[in-house]
Amino acid sequence: MHGADIHAVDHTGQTALHWSAVRGHIQVAELLLKEGAKVDATDLYGYQATHVAAQYGQTAFIYHIVAKWNADPDVPDNDGRSPLHWAAYKGFADSIRLLLFLDAYRGRQDKEGCTPLHWAAIRGNLEACTVLVQVGKKDDLMVKDKTGLTPAQLAADKNHRQVAFFLDNARRVYDTGCGANTKFGKLSKIGLAPLLWCIIIVMLITYIHSVISGEYTMNMTAAFGMFAWSGVFLATAGLVMFYKCSRKDPGYININVRGSQSQRDDEPLLKMELENPALLSGNWSQLCITCKIVRPVRSKHCSTCDRCVEQFDHHCPWVSNCIGKKNKWEFFMFLALEVFAMIITGSAAIMRIVRDPDSPSSFGSWIYYSVFQHPGVASFLAMDFFLFFGVAVLTIVQASQIARNITTNEMANSMRYAYLRGPGGRFRNPFDHGIRKNCSDFLLNGYNEDIERLEQTSHTDEEMGMIQMTSAVSQNGDNPLHHSNGTDHNCTDSQANSKPQSQVGSSQCCDHSKRTDRTPLGLGLGLGRNSASRQYVRSLIPL
Ligand SMILES: [Zn+2]
Ligand SMILES: [Zn+2]
Repeated sequence: MHGADIHAVDHTGQTALHWSAVRGHIQVAELLLKEGAKVDATDLYGYQATHVAAQYGQTAFIYHIVAKWNADPDVPDNDGRSPLHWAAYKGFADSIRLLLFLDAYRGRQDKEGCTPLHWAAIRGNLEACTVLVQVGKKDDLMVKDKTGLTPAQLAADKNHRQVAFFLDNARRVYDTGCGANTKFGKLSKIGLAPLLWCIIIVMLITYIHSVISGEYTMNMTAAFGMFAWSGVFLATAGLVMFYKCSRKDPGYININVRGSQSQRDDEPLLKMELENPALLSGNWSQLCITCKIVRPVRSKHCSTCDRCVEQFDHHCPWVSNCIGKKNKWEFFMFLALEVFAMIITGSAAIMRIVRDPDSPSSFGSWIYYSVFQHPGVASFLAMDFFLFFGVAVLTIVQASQIARNITTNEMANSMRYAYLRGPGGRFRNPFDHGIRKNCSDFLLNGYNEDIERLEQTSHTDEEMGMIQMTSAVSQNGDNPLHHSNGTDHNCTDSQANSKPQSQVGSSQCCDHSKRTDRTPLGLGLGLGRNSASRQYVRSLIPL
């Protein structure tokens, strides 16, 4: 520091720590704080370093100063706005996730009566709204600001149709009682498993009654009998798998039990999680704000089960359970056994009616004869045929995913997951160990361990790259801390002026500039900040 004053302020009362927050320079902040800089220093607007970091989406920075230096993640500025307000206004979904994880208060109203959700709605930040609504309650959607408007009304007012539609829809879901704890929610948890169970049982009874023990002019041979009964055996084995799959724990991840009232208890936990490699490398999507955990990679929160599931595949309404690491084997066995059972029982049924010596020779009258002479067999065949294609397609899709060791969820959202990106941004699955190993691990052990393929990636220097300070200054005018309409967002100011409207877009440009004009300043700031911001840009792509 060479004798410079660590507490020196500029004309707006900002210290060096505020400035380090702009670009998220963690090691600079670390140095300043070690030299005695105050983590809660406020400028003329009442901003602390956490506010500034939230304004610029410096999620890793917020995490560091909160976890290590006990910065307050939920302190209001002079206008009553917390860092969560700012992150919501700027649309930094990862920062919102982290702040909510740190127990920031969603319902805080600023001097204009606006909550973070109001701000996200005003700016039309759909992803920010999604994250806030996901953990929120109905009340959050109903809060009115000083002008008497709800977040949905504000979004409509500002012509953000998609956001207004989303918020209205979220409210309608609560109104019609489709929430997790309502009657409909409970009904959706029971799912369709009992129905599917009944369908299979009815089909089996029809099959045994009409195909195996039905009245025919021709007697059943021993070979045909064995063949016909093997279908029943396979279907029953499939039913056992179906029962196991729907009752088994799909791989729920334990919820973090921390008392929300006792702040002190949280700190050792947070300090411990400071070392969490997922957070150090900026994988903020691994934070579950509902379960309050840092979940392992490949897991996802299921809204129906309201839990995080390891190696989340999908929530299957037909099984009334999530399909995850611990019950995927049973799920696949159920599908495979039923497909084979349907092939065998279907063939047996066809053989039965084809071999009937009384059946007429012409095709049309043969169909007519079969339907009326053997109605049980005909209706069984119709059901069998109808179900077969659905189950067979699902089995083939599952088998191909098992062979590649990828989940249905990963297939659907591959764009959103940083770990599925190789150098150059192309799709790359690090858990794919080749068809043979993937299949043998799955079939013998029942699951695949999340072991990444060892492969030297060439983007390490990119991760370590530093960002030019000038990109911030040139982008935001003279002072990067107080650009544009930082403090006024009146509902009456039309479009909140055009400059900040393009904030989301410009932050993308900003990210781009980070990657292209790397100017190493010799501080060796790793911590995967670049990858975090890359992930942020990706996360802008809706589901
Ligand atoms: Zn969760
Ligand atoms: Zn589920």
